[in-house]
Amino acid sequence: MKQLLRTPRYLLIGLAVMATVGLVAGAGLYLHIGLLTNFPASPTAIATLLLLVMFALMAGVAAAAVYRHHHEVKRVVAAAELLAKGDLADWEPVPYGQDLNQLAQAFQLLQRRLRETTVSRNYLDRVLSSMQDALILVGHDGNIRRVNKAASELLDSRQSELTGRPVTEILVERERAAFPSAGQAQTRGESVFVSRNGEEIPVAYSWSPIEAVDADLSGAIIAARDITERKLADRRIRYLARIDALTKVPNRMQFQHLLQRSLARSRRNRARIALLYIDIDRFKDINDTFGHMAGDAALETLTSRVTKLLPDRAFMGRLAGDEFGVVVYPHGPVDRSNVELNRLARRILREVAEVLIVQGHELYITVSIGIAGFPSDADNVLDLIRNADAALYEAKATGGNRIEFYRPEMNAAAVERLMLKSKLRRSYELDQLLLNYQPKVDVRTGKIAGAEALVRWELSDHGLVLPSQFIPLAEETNLILEIGEWVLNRVCEDYAHWRARGSEPGRISVNLSLKQLAQPNFPRRINRIFRRHGIQPDCLELELTETTLMENPEHTIRVLRELHRMGLRLAIDDFGTGYSSLSALQRFPIATLKIDQSFVSDAASDPDDATMIATMVDMAHRMNMDVVAEGVESEEQLGLLRRLHCDFVQGMLFGEPMSAEAYQALVNAQRDGTDSYRALFA
Ligand code: C2E
Ligand code: MG
Ligand code: MG
Repeated sequence: MKQLLRTPRYLLIGLAVMATVGLVAGAGLYLHIGLLTNFPASPTAIATLLLLVMFALMAGVAAAAVYRHHHEVKRVVAAAELLAKGDLADWEPVPYGQDLNQLAQAFQLLQRRLRETTVSRNYLDRVLSSMQDALILVGHDGNIRRVNKAASELLDSRQSELTGRPVTEILVERERAAFPSAGQAQTRGESVFVSRNGEEIPVAYSWSPIEAVDADLSGAIIAARDITERKLADRRIRYLARIDALTKVPNRMQFQHLLQRSLARSRRNRARIALLYIDIDRFKDINDTFGHMAGDAALETLTSRVTKLLPDRAFMGRLAGDEFGVVVYPHGPVDRSNVELNRLARRILREVAEVLIVQGHELYITVSIGIAGFPSDADNVLDLIRNADAALYEAKATGGNRIEFYRPEMNAAAVERLMLKSKLRRSYELDQLLLNYQPKVDVRTGKIAGAEALVRWELSDHGLVLPSQFIPLAEETNLILEIGEWVLNRVCEDYAHWRARGSEPGRISVNLSLKQLAQPNFPRRINRIFRRHGIQPDCLELELTETTLMENPEHTIRVLRELHRMGLRLAIDDFGTGYSSLSALQRFPIATLKIDQSFVSDAASDPDDATMIATMVDMAHRMNMDVVAEGVESEEQLGLLRRLHCDFVQGMLFGEPMSAEAYQALVNAQRDGTDSYRALFA
């Protein structure tokens, strides 16, 4: 352009010089000729002069035209230069000059277009950089074309550092293969970017292809969002979903999952695994007596004590409230590895039994353990758990604080329990339950002071089923409510019958289930029964266990006070087996304390038990309670209890619990002085 412009400038100078030279020459010539010819000049001179002046005028006009043209071109050039610099402001239109005008108009058009695209591009840039998602424009070659501010911040790189690089370079290596590439249809997914300093950034992205006629413009746009927080939250949720919050060991689901994996591995390696099913004995009592904080502390302590003992690769999980599972990998053949398992289980029993101090209370917990092995006892997870559970049930049923290895009969026992439940209901409906009476004898006089009513269930194909076996089943199915009411009715009926025949049966004790006491209208129900049989409430005593009392103490106190007001006596049964202290029982209107037979059975040989009985008797007397010792089987025990000032005794020493008729006969014999008890008290 400059080269071109140089020509008119020289032309202009030339023309201007020519016009000046023409004028000067014309004037000089005129003067010269005029001086020679003494004016006026000759016509030839004048003609020459006119020619020169015309020449000068023409040169001047040409110079002016060239000057103007040159000026317009310069303006167009200046405008073009501004355009090149990116200044898109309007400039004055060129008024004339056909070609130049066209050129100027073309420039103006170009300028407008440029302005439009630039404005919309700037706008687009602003929109893109204001977006929080990272946007990455990828060309059809898979290289990054552009990124927005969020993308450069996310990747901790300047935009210029990112453009031109293959998009796969912003991904961690392991994610590259799965990431979409050119030609891929619209998709979404999660991946992991890597920032300039190597930090991994989990992202959720969408990949949208850009279709363009021009291959150079086609490619895809990636919108990505940092999901680090979400991933962390996910991980936390997954952790919480797998780990028990209190004990920090796998929960049931996770434990089963781990067990499943262990089992699959053992199957492949032909190795063995064993499942120890652990359950805290009478955990409910701990909760009821000391509160849930104590219960939680017991669970935590148990977990930490057990995990400490576990061998390599073994793991523990919490399966439910107070149930835990432990998976171990025993070595060697079954016999040898059972010895090893037994040793571990014993160590667990010992370690758990160590005293635990919670909120100033000394707590002694024991556990029961059921053990089943793969593949000897079960070949899948569910059977393994079920069989270990059956073994645990056996360990509990035989008193707790025990270890049982699974035996096939145990499962049969579980099936039988189910059958028993339905048989029990049938027997109840067919009125096939029986009631026996166990005499309560006054220690000082040897006289029968009353009896305890004990329900009996005889099955034709099974013989006698013990209450310890069927009462828990009845509790599970709520049948206990109906059985309990039946017992009360039967006792009142028998009582009315004995009295009508002139016998003095004394006070009859009836065992009460927690569920009965929890019935909203229990006092009214029992009152109705008394009225129906014409019996005074003080003929009866209701026996409740410690656990029953502590289950819902506020409600229990209210109900017991009401029963007490009605004239009923209340006894606490199996005392010493729970956690309650005698002073805690002071709030309840209790008249009789029954010392559990476990103390009595060893009292004659174990001085500790004797001391315990002495303390219980002493404290009960101070609280105006009578004391009954249960399970008295020998004369030695009777002698000891008499020395310890126990008030009443109950037990096999005076015979098995008996029918209503037998009890009446016994009472009558005593009245007539023909009973055999007297000899024991002589
Ligand atoms: P419990 O109330 O402590 O009853 C005493 C248990 O000790 C009875 O067992 C009785 O037969 C047994 N026993 C009596 N003397 C001796 C003895 O000298 N040595 C030994 N080793 N045991 C003796 P049973 O009849 O099997 O009852 C067990 C439990 O079943 C009872 O314990 C009571 O809690 C519950 N039960 C019995 N009848 C009923 C009932 O009608 N309703 C409710 N809710 N529970 C009942
Ligand atoms: Mg009882
Ligand atoms: Mg008892």
